Amino acid sequence: MNGLNIKDIRKFETLVQKASKTVIVTHMKPDGDAMGSSTAMYSFLKSLDKEDVRVVIPDPYPDYLDFMISEEAGRDIITYEDMPSESVAAIKESDLVICLDFNAFHRTDRLEQALEESEAAKVLIDHHLSPDTDKFSIVFSETEISSASELLYRILIRTSVIDGKPERLPKEAATALMAGMTTDTNNFANSTYPSTLNMASDLLSAGVDRDMIIYELYNRQRENRLRLLGHALADLMKITEDGVAYIVLDAETLKRHDIREGETEGFVNMPLTVDDVRMSLLLKEDGDRVRVSIRSKKGTSANLCARLYFNGGGHENAAGGKLYIPENIKDISEAGNYIELYTHKFLTEDK
Ligand code: 5GP
Ligand code: MN
Repeated sequence: MNGLNIKDIRKFETLVQKASKTVIVTHMKPDGDAMGSSTAMYSFLKSLDKEDVRVVIPDPYPDYLDFMISEEAGRDIITYEDMPSESVAAIKESDLVICLDFNAFHRTDRLEQALEESEAAKVLIDHHLSPDTDKFSIVFSETEISSASELLYRILIRTSVIDGKPERLPKEAATALMAGMTTDTNNFANSTYPSTLNMASDLLSAGVDRDMIIYELYNRQRENRLRLLGHALADLMKITEDGVAYIVLDAETLKRHDIREGETEGFVNMPLTVDDVRMSLLLKEDGDRVRVSIRSKKGTSANLCARLYFNGGGHENAAGGKLYIPENIKDISEAGNYIELYTHKFLTEDK
């Protein structure tokens, strides 16, 4: 990663000191990195005796991330889906908004308008390509890094209170940062830089219980999830002649397996383990949209494919987006044809 600007960190510290009401925001369908970085920021601000700090999220976080949310943080998380007016009011009344793990307000779905209208000072801490920098007073943007959690770690470690000593981080923050980095790297399989391993080493030395984190993240899944994964790989996965693997999970299949939010996390990575597969797509029907996850091997841009054909974006080898029904496809049964048509076009014409 490139160096962080120490002046920006001092400016950030000043904004934090001055703020009377702070709101932390992350992206819709929050994942481990989103919740890890957001709750770590929350614990850090609380350790500075900031009283009014709220985490506002567009929709609920998945159950498997519960372990990283302290009781106190749990009380200060407001979910738009459950409490729309409280969420908007919290943003409206705040004088500092800290945005983590997303690059543009539309990634917060129904919080977008409140963020656009907010006159609060805004800070961005993110690792995606092309951040919307004009909207922020301070931008910490770094793409050569594992995760927003790692970037936040780099910032916090340079603040005056932490002063290069990871053991000074609140325990909850250190745990959440380690967990967020672990999920975004798929447990050190992707986007792992020297700085990532340094962070992991520092946090382990500072006493973070990594065994507990791994157990919570990977060894507490429900049987349904594993059975759906088996069905998806054995019966639903298709591999095209271009080396594109795809799995379409329609609403009926998700319902039959009683799949909850976040429980298909990791599915999209599995087809990529096949030698000739260079890109993998997982589609999930969700009302009038289909959520799309894309992963690719080096040399194929998941990000570009998501931007060109799936109304989305992301990182070079890990991106996502959506297909709208009926604008893009008439119904879910057309998803396979859509993928085959446009990934073929992408791999033969757009590269
Ligand atoms: P996932 O497949 O894990 O949901 O997302 C992978 C990456 O793609 C994430 O870094 C996320 O930020 C990005 N991504 C997922 N969905 C969307 C989307 O609808 N729009 C954009 N711009 N990026 C997305
Ligand atoms: Mn992330």
